[in-house]
Amino acid sequence: MPNIARVLIDGAASDLQFDYAVPDDWAGRVFPGCRVRIPLRNRPATGTVMAVLEEPDAGATWLAKLKPLQSLIDEEPVLTPPLFALADWIADYYLTPREAVLRSMIPQAARSGEGTEKTRKLVTLLSEPDAEALAALRKRSKRQAELVDHLAAQTGRHAFLTELTGKDLGFSRQVITALEKAGLVSVADGAVARDPFASETYLASGPLELNAEQRTALDAVIQAIESPDDAGRKPILLHGVTGSGKTEVYLQAIQHVIDRGQGAIVLVPEISLTPQTADRFKQRFAAIQREVAVLHSHLSSGERHDEWRKVLRREARIVIGARSAIFAPIRDLGLIVVDEEHENSYKQETQPRYHGRDLAVVRAHLEKCAVLLGSATPSLESWRNVQSGKYRLTELRGRIDDRTLPLIRVIDMRLETRKQGGGLAILSSKLREAIDARLAESEQIILFLNRRGFARSLQCPECGHVAECPHCSLALTYHKEDDRLICHLCGYARVAPQRCPECSSRGITLAGYGTEKVESVLRQVFDKARIARVDTDTMRKKNQLSDTLKAFKARKIDILVGTQMIAKGLHFPNVTLVGVLNADIGLHVPDFRASERTFQLLTQVAGRAGRGDVAGEVIVQTFTPHAPSIQFARHHDYEGFAAQELILRDQFQFPPALHLAVVTVRSVHKERAEFSLQTLHRRLKRHLPPGIELTEPLPSPLVRSHDQWRFQVTMKSPSARRLARHLRETLAGLTFPEDVLVTIDMDAYSLS
Ligand code: ADP
Ligand code: ZN
Ligand code: ZN
Repeated sequence: MPNIARVLIDGAASDLQFDYAVPDDWAGRVFPGCRVRIPLRNRPATGTVMAVLEEPDAGATWLAKLKPLQSLIDEEPVLTPPLFALADWIADYYLTPREAVLRSMIPQAARSGEGTEKTRKLVTLLSEPDAEALAALRKRSKRQAELVDHLAAQTGRHAFLTELTGKDLGFSRQVITALEKAGLVSVADGAVARDPFASETYLASGPLELNAEQRTALDAVIQAIESPDDAGRKPILLHGVTGSGKTEVYLQAIQHVIDRGQGAIVLVPEISLTPQTADRFKQRFAAIQREVAVLHSHLSSGERHDEWRKVLRREARIVIGARSAIFAPIRDLGLIVVDEEHENSYKQETQPRYHGRDLAVVRAHLEKCAVLLGSATPSLESWRNVQSGKYRLTELRGRIDDRTLPLIRVIDMRLETRKQGGGLAILSSKLREAIDARLAESEQIILFLNRRGFARSLQCPECGHVAECPHCSLALTYHKEDDRLICHLCGYARVAPQRCPECSSRGITLAGYGTEKVESVLRQVFDKARIARVDTDTMRKKNQLSDTLKAFKARKIDILVGTQMIAKGLHFPNVTLVGVLNADIGLHVPDFRASERTFQLLTQVAGRAGRGDVAGEVIVQTFTPHAPSIQFARHHDYEGFAAQELILRDQFQFPPALHLAVVTVRSVHKERAEFSLQTLHRRLKRHLPPGIELTEPLPSPLVRSHDQWRFQVTMKSPSARRLARHLRETLAGLTFPEDVLVTIDMDAYSLS
């Protein structure tokens, strides 16, 4: 009889596993994936059961030495067998300790057993004090006021007691008790169903009649869902232009899965996981509304836990969520959908540094279910997989109701700079006229400025020249400290020029201005227009984004100016003009994906125009009008862009031609970080297997962050496994000082 539990201990940096005896009267209750309390060096600890084993040959004497499990945190295993296999895959591929993998797969509340009916204590805001009372409270006790603010910002106005008193928020029990005495909050035991959508009722909206292309796409997905063999379940890439009705295909494919009694996961990028997206699914599946769970980071941890628990208990069969929803413990999975599969936000930038889309493909393989990746601008990784036959392609080439794709005009800002007598040109005369014309017709306008990333490049406003590495076809990064330009892939460095090497202009400067500046210019130029700005600075508060979008939809705003927050997924029929203020900002950053990102972004932004009855128009301002990403986007030519960009990736040996890993060493002590990396680099180089490339050590683009110095090497190989193995074997024989942290980013998206 199996009576030994092998337990992975929580919190251990390395994968510490110990065996414990399963008490006799627990027989049949302990499974892999169960969360347990155990004694560890005579102190209480928690862990996850990895395996349940038979008594070893040594027999009873050996077993007698084992300490027994203390208690079960949860009766039910929190991981299903395929999720276990997925955890193994992640640990190997991304070189991450299993403990860290499990930690990111299971919500914190579920790991600790908080939020199970027995221990859950909920603090609820009973009434919101008016402004005057709140000001008085703020004077009396800042912390009490902060707690009221915090609760008021939560959906349902409540939070777990343990969450409030936890490390992150750190409210003391006294603060809570004081508010309880004042009658402002209640502290209650027991199960309270926190449905983030509890206040909404959904009207059912039936399936639409599909057009021929949608029908073909759906048939392909259904075939995969029903296929008994791996070959028939190849991942499907749905390449559909903006507004072609991809979501309707997802919805009907999910309906098919539900009719078969199976479940589905839908991944959407965090940024487009707006209430509107969730509503669309809730409406379609209104009859089984309770069975739709929504998981994303804007939920309170209590809400997230409730949604997750609904899935664990088989009360929900459809999960819509951001990246980490790929870990939802749905059993009998029939389909995984990844919407906007090209989105960078699927890549997690903390350990484990996984890619949600890639995990969707791996999990689908493990679960033997279908996987559907959708995009108007598929990632080059996926496109290459279509070409090599690994994925199956299905396409929606036309917009719904034969609406036309918008006309895109490219404005050469070098000429504008000259016309406006040098200096910073933000609005071209063409764009200004177009805005005036649309305002006169009471139509709406979206202006877009992509300002992200800290790594900056030098650009000449007169001729458009950008300083690039002669070896890598990458923009060089300006390092202020020593006034040099450095390539972050190969280490090439040069002094920053005083004059433009192309045209000798002294105007050469760091590219970039922000949305705030744009807003102030717009308010001057169009003083009668109603203008709103959407970026992370203005949209800090909960509901602010959805309120602004609602106002825009209700035509209470004429011009919406913002960052990528407004680039994607939004559907406003009255928007007829979209302006891209500076297409170069995302283009000349030191990143081999810059061109791809720019193409994607321009296509997505352009997709916001002309979704109603009036045809749309797009104006793109740029200093490099002949850049391929801009020209191909202008002609709505994804295939042309992909073909040319893939040639470059192959030529310069960038993904998807091969896999790329960034190894970063950090420390608050500069020399120790540098020295440790040099040691690691020497070892990596010593037994470098053929087919792996290794750069020299370099400062990271963000050389110092949060007081930590960062240095890195980059590795490339056609085989991710070989790369991982070499790294694993090398690191196994090395120890570093305690303050030195080594991180590995496999299939890195950012070189920082
Ligand atoms: P995409 O996700 O490809 O950008 P959507 O799925 O948002 O496109 O569809 C755009 C619009 O077309 C939506 O308003 C949707 O309801 C509508 N639509 C989709 N499919 C159909 C159809 N078969 N018949 C009529 N309208 C449709
Ligand atoms: Zn120049
Ligand atoms: Zn280089």
